[in-house]
Amino acid sequence: MAVPKKKMSKSRRDRRRAHEALGKLHLSACPQCRAMIRPHTVCYNCGMYRGVKYLEIKTDDAKS
Ligand SMILES: [Zn+2]
Repeated sequence: MAVPKKKMSKSRRDRRRAHEALGKLHLSACPQCRAMIRPHTVCYNCGMYRGVKYLEIKTDDAKS
């Protein structure tokens, strides 16, 4: 197994990890309900994707 020749200093290690932060989430408005959703995903607010309903969204008034 490959083994590091020298211990990496905390400074070098932390400098590398300075670039590992996750980027900002990209969001776009749902064409049906204008909720902010991730692109190319089913909207979790109205259950629609490209004009087709894929999810039944449970609401309080639907309990009966
Ligand atoms: Zn929607």
